[in-house]
Amino acid sequence: MGRLDGKVAIITGAARGQGEAEARLFAEEGARVVLGDVRDDLGMAVAASIGESALYLHHDVRSEEDWTRVVATARDRFGKLDVLVNNAGVLHFAPIADIELDDYLRVIQVNQVGCLLGMKSVIPAMLEAGGGSIVNISSTAGLTGTAGLVAYGSSKWAIRGMTKVAALELGPLGIRVNSVHPGGIDTAMGRGDARGFEKVDTGGVYASLPLGRIGQPLEVARLALFLSSDESSYCTGSEFTIDGGMTAGPKLA
Ligand code: NAD
Repeated sequence: MGRLDGKVAIITGAARGQGEAEARLFAEEGARVVLGDVRDDLGMAVAASIGESALYLHHDVRSEEDWTRVVATARDRFGKLDVLVNNAGVLHFAPIADIELDDYLRVIQVNQVGCLLGMKSVIPAMLEAGGGSIVNISSTAGLTGTAGLVAYGSSKWAIRGMTKVAALELGPLGIRVNSVHPGGIDTAMGRGDARGFEKVDTGGVYASLPLGRIGQPLEVARLALFLSSDESSYCTGSEFTIDGGMTAGPKLA
């Protein structure tokens, strides 16, 4: 028995990193999974290696047309839709004094607008399925201020806020909505591979955390699995932090 037997999930940004780990784990637990991303070669390879329970679709989360097509294809191919993981995200590092408006808006478009369009787009299909679960991937940068990450932090605070609004509006309809707040996960983003962000010494920086190490994508995937499954049936509008203790408080000693 899988923990997601019979469920159909859309996962955005699933070509690599945490989204890939979620797609693989969800399929192992019995779900049929639609992987979306803009990195088509990587995404297709991940879906092919998962097998028949996975389908890759080009899906730019900024595009309403893409959302309409992806939700319709998920229903056509797998019959219904129960779960959405709004995972796609981009990072841009610049202090407020230097940030270019185009860079700010690009991050907001992907992280914040993408999440809104996702929630809006899946409602009819989830109602038809008798309910559903939406998991919005925010960040520790959506819980605290992070110097140098004004665009990213604003978008992640917005995701946290939208999650509360959605929980209030959609709970009575049988759709649960929660946010996940990872901090320091070993992916291209967490290692600082993104352009404009200095490469992080993952051993050194994360050694100072209470748990003393960087987190792994599978650890976040397990939390997303819990929130996507019926095991979390009484959770909605809540924040789930997964950060090795990063936001527990200052170390005084
Ligand atoms: P990642 O860069 O490996 O994965 C992000 C994925 O999103 C990539 O595959 C990328 O192609 C995709 N993407 C980017 N723009 C897109 C668009 N317009 N439409 C669709 N897909 C798009 O990084 P990750 O760590 O796996 O990030 C996953 C999520 O976790 C992100 O929302 C990120 O902000 C969040 N997060 C990451 C960390 C960390 O330390 N890695 C910490 C907190 C939160």
